[in-house]
Amino acid sequence: MTFLVHNTLTKEKTPFRSIEEGVVRMYNCGPTVYGRPHIGNYRSFLFADLLRGWLEYLGYTVHQVMNITDVGHLTDDDVADAGGDDKVEAQARREKKDPREITEGYTAMFLEDMAALGVREPKARPRATEYIDEMVEMVERLIELGHAYRVGDNVYFDVTSFPEYGRLSGNRIDDLEAGKRIEVNEEKRHPADFALWKSDPAHLMKWRTVFGEHGFPGWHIECSAMAKALLGDRIDIHTGGEDNVFPHHECEIAQSACANGVEMATYWMHAKFLQVDGGKMSKSLGNVYTVPDVVARGFEPRHLRFALLRGHYRTQINFTWAIMEEIRSRLENLDELAVLLSRAKGAEGGDPEAGREHLAAARDGFEAGMNDDLNTPVALAALEQFRRPLLDGAVGSAVASEALEWLGRAGEVLGFIETSEPEADVEIEALIEQRNAAKAAKDWAAADAARDALVAMGIELQDTPDGVVWRRR
Ligand SMILES: [Zn+2]
Repeated sequence: MTFLVHNTLTKEKTPFRSIEEGVVRMYNCGPTVYGRPHIGNYRSFLFADLLRGWLEYLGYTVHQVMNITDVGHLTDDDVADAGGDDKVEAQARREKKDPREITEGYTAMFLEDMAALGVREPKARPRATEYIDEMVEMVERLIELGHAYRVGDNVYFDVTSFPEYGRLSGNRIDDLEAGKRIEVNEEKRHPADFALWKSDPAHLMKWRTVFGEHGFPGWHIECSAMAKALLGDRIDIHTGGEDNVFPHHECEIAQSACANGVEMATYWMHAKFLQVDGGKMSKSLGNVYTVPDVVARGFEPRHLRFALLRGHYRTQINFTWAIMEEIRSRLENLDELAVLLSRAKGAEGGDPEAGREHLAAARDGFEAGMNDDLNTPVALAALEQFRRPLLDGAVGSAVASEALEWLGRAGEVLGFIETSEPEADVEIEALIEQRNAAKAAKDWAAADAARDALVAMGIELQDTPDGVVWRRR
């Protein structure tokens, strides 16, 4: 099986190949914790989780790291050398709290949402403030190698020292200079240079380092340093939202390549933004929804997980409450697969091998979709089409048993389908077996007891020449 992935760096879909056989090292840019993430933020995090799930399905061991940015992410972050306020500190002032209280509080909410959405735990969730030493070390190395320079207590990356700068985003250094989206700063050698380390006595979260008394890291160097510390100089996949392409990931690529002497990541993958009510969500429209908002409307977090993963991660998808209602009924049908399979598995008589082609179609369709750059619409359609032959009773017991096992694995990748055999059905099957055994042993009292227990559960039995058939009354 070939897993094709779209690489933002090459703009191509190519077969995935890991650096080390059977192992994938993956870094996902996580949230900046100055507010509870909205549902749009989770599209990127769920995409990373889906990717991990699919790699595991394919047999890889995945070393996954997703960071938490708790310092240094400034408000004007669409330019490489961001200006403005530290997002965390600005929120701290609004809430009249200490910045650490802000990051602790919102980190807890983020983790609560992630758990509710069924996101697998990564190997590590590093917080930027815990890796200051590693960042300083990397910045010093960049100065030593001539890729960065100090002006007073500030340190800047020299973009002209890395000719590939702009390869990921398509931005050329000269265009950046000509454009307006650049921070004017007299002390920089080139207007497109960006800060690796900033000095500001008024900053609340600051560290005394070789660069001076009151410094803090730039947002970009944080991820370069944390990825290196936890995954090494070379990783397979780096993900983020489409807004991370420039400047964040462009700058990470430059810093890491220059400091480590090797290319940071083989594949750069980016999830598109979520649209809400057909447009950008906004406070003025009142549609900046969070996970608790969705739950308050009577949906389960897994409905939201389905809604956010139902579209291919690189295509635009929309969120509305009407779509959530559709999701609810689609998920009911998908949940029914395990119920129908469980019943088919327990059915006596008929050809146990019947309907093998339906299982093959479901499995092949699902795998083909996922292998095509995580094309979830194709994968989901294959699962949804598997329901019809089950309703028609076209799947035999042996095939159903195999399908249940496979559905469990597919469900684990997606993370929103109920795939375990319904508890009640397992119990019913067990009682029917007890009754059969008792009858065979001519223990009529025990056989009647089993029958009574089934009747009490609302189960009707019918003895047929092919064995016992049951149904709910
Ligand atoms: Zn990052």
